[in-house]
Amino acid sequence: METLITNKFKVQSIRNITPTTYVVRMDRKGMKFSPGQNLNLGLPGDTEKRDYSIYSCLHDDFLEILVKEVEDGLVSRQLKRVKPGEALEVDGPFGFFTIKDEYLHSKKFIFIASGTGIAPFHSISRSHPGINYTLLHGIRYLDETYDKQDYPPDRYISCVSKEEGGSFRGRVTDFIRQNPAEKDGIYYLCGNVNMIYDVFDILKEQGVPSENLHAEVYF
Ligand SMILES: Cc1cc2nc3c(=O)[nH]c(=O)nc-3n(C[C@H](O)[C@H](O)[C@H](O)COP(=O)(O)OP(=O)(O)OC[C@H]3O[C@@H](n4cnc5c(N)ncnc54)[C@H](O)[C@@H]3O)c2cc1C
Repeated sequence: METLITNKFKVQSIRNITPTTYVVRMDRKGMKFSPGQNLNLGLPGDTEKRDYSIYSCLHDDFLEILVKEVEDGLVSRQLKRVKPGEALEVDGPFGFFTIKDEYLHSKKFIFIASGTGIAPFHSISRSHPGINYTLLHGIRYLDETYDKQDYPPDRYISCVSKEEGGSFRGRVTDFIRQNPAEKDGIYYLCGNVNMIYDVFDILKEQGVPSENLHAEVYF
């Protein structure tokens, strides 16, 4: 399933989605991955590397990552300045935040993301368009509904904490308290550690068994 490719990957484009969030598209060079896995990358020759979930899907002939430019961050700001044609040093793919093939078409999935934590779910849902899922996306502002047109409208629920106009006004934790969990669902949580801890606690209280909970912490 995994092939380790350590190499330079040419950047094809940088697409700005918001003033601080962008998608880096690179050559794929035949890399095999499982949707949900991540890459470790940075500038060539630089020892500072960071992990980024793969945003593109299995049938794309390129690789993409979705990056939030962190104020005072190092790599997330370096990557934004890379020009098409330049190379990045990429290791991977890594990680086990993936779905077993035998569950893909037999289970209901609830994907819960904060911010760019939506990236692995973009890869998973577009790689396997037939799967049964609901995606809860916790964001602060409406412009953070990154590429929401890529999800069927009845599957994507934005939980927007600081303005009106999303699917739900409030945090994902508020949404889950008001819309109790599907106990047989398989839950995948990704993003900020505080969101993940809080959602874990609520889901456990609501009777979701721990074996149905999976998490990927970004920071
Ligand atoms: C498995 C994994 C997958 C990841 N996938 C992604 C991804 O798909 N997209 C993505 O944007 N990031 C992702 N991250 C986070 C990423 O690896 C970096 O931590 C992030 O880009 C900041 O790096 P930096 O060098 O710019 O900041 P640094 O100089 O390393 O750190 C600056 C500070 O920013 C904090 N920070 C990190 N991320 C955020 C954030 N999103 N918002 C606010 N503060 C933050 C850190 O805790 C740190 O205190 C992932 C992390 C992991 C562990």
